[in-house]
Amino acid sequence: MRAVILAGGLGTRLNKIIKNLPKPMIKIGRLPILAHQVELFKKYGIKNITLATCYLSEVIEKYFKNGQDFGVRINYSKEENPLGTAGGLKEIESQLKNDFFLLYGDVMVDLDIAELISFHKSKKSACTLVLHPNDHPQDSDLVEIDGKQRIIAFHPKPHPENKYFNNLVNAGLYVLSPKILKYIKRGIKSDFGKDIFPKIFKKEKLYGYVTAEYLKDMGTPDRLAEVQKDYKSGKIAGLNRKNKRRAIFLDRDGVINDTSDDVCKTEDFKLFPWASEAIKKINASEFLAIVITNQPAVAKGFCSIEELDEIHKRMETLLGREGAKLDAVYFCPHHPDKGFAGENPKYKINCDCRKPKIGLVKRAEKDFNINLKKSYFIGDSWRDILCGKNAGVKTIKIEPGKKNLAQAVNSIYFLKPRQ
Ligand SMILES: [Zn+2]
Repeated sequence: MRAVILAGGLGTRLNKIIKNLPKPMIKIGRLPILAHQVELFKKYGIKNITLATCYLSEVIEKYFKNGQDFGVRINYSKEENPLGTAGGLKEIESQLKNDFFLLYGDVMVDLDIAELISFHKSKKSACTLVLHPNDHPQDSDLVEIDGKQRIIAFHPKPHPENKYFNNLVNAGLYVLSPKILKYIKRGIKSDFGKDIFPKIFKKEKLYGYVTAEYLKDMGTPDRLAEVQKDYKSGKIAGLNRKNKRRAIFLDRDGVINDTSDDVCKTEDFKLFPWASEAIKKINASEFLAIVITNQPAVAKGFCSIEELDEIHKRMETLLGREGAKLDAVYFCPHHPDKGFAGENPKYKINCDCRKPKIGLVKRAEKDFNINLKKSYFIGDSWRDILCGKNAGVKTIKIEPGKKNLAQAVNSIYFLKPRQ
């Protein structure tokens, strides 16, 4: 496979820091960000790399030459005028006969590329977008996927106050089939996120690969400083999916949101005022924040699966507005006892995911490569605690509806903020 890296950025917002350097040549540690990207592809056996350059191309060409010193083969596609993230690809169409990677040159990333390729292939995807939750979804362009991870909508910012979305943001790394090149017009500036993907996702199969690995653009002084700090602390490499992660599993009702009344409609969902602070603490630590919730209201016919989805969008939106994010939400819509009026027979089954069964925890373990022994379950019912025990994670029981989520999070000894 070939990797194309968009290295044409000028870095206007970093002007004061980087005089006369193209943005991708800014150093993170000893090496320019672009060299880190080249090294990452090389590590996964991707040695044919095209650098799409524009501003100060000569600085980049002088540094990388033909790639030999880096153990890869590098060629260049120089744009006189920037053609956007998509427009420039049309110029090198003849090199792109097989599926290829496209990476934005200002994104610091460490990711298990083998896993991403295997996802892309298993889905027979035309475009796979790497997606992740971030801590400012309200001012990000958001992507929506279905249960099979197919992309079903794009929601560009600004977002209306009264609408709710999942917290999933395009991270700037794609695996693309060459067939999408036919949607790009030659010589015209166009952008994948704004112009191409929203036009083609109904015709072609686009998938979202959701990850908790490190991908962060360093286009502003603040973000650059953060990336440099994260590199120094080892966080960037540490979050590669090859390394096992620790998680804090959270029950939903009574832990994150108030259940004084039933939560069957979107507007019924009321976040506890302390929930986002507690989750932000988890986000700042080495732990993943993952919700595991029984929602038998679906099986009982009190709430449809679509309404449950909307409720979870509201949860992610309300948390996101306060800078908190969940790495994933897993729910069991089932209930075993049949024979009630209004029930939904499809979900009236004896499943393997209703807590205290551990089906959902095991799914999370597989999806995120979690070390269960070093993880925690915080819940307010015996089902949560038994589920945690059955899965081999440490458990913390809190009183429903009290401020105890914050205390429980604080009590986790190892929950130290990342340096
Ligand atoms: Zn279930």
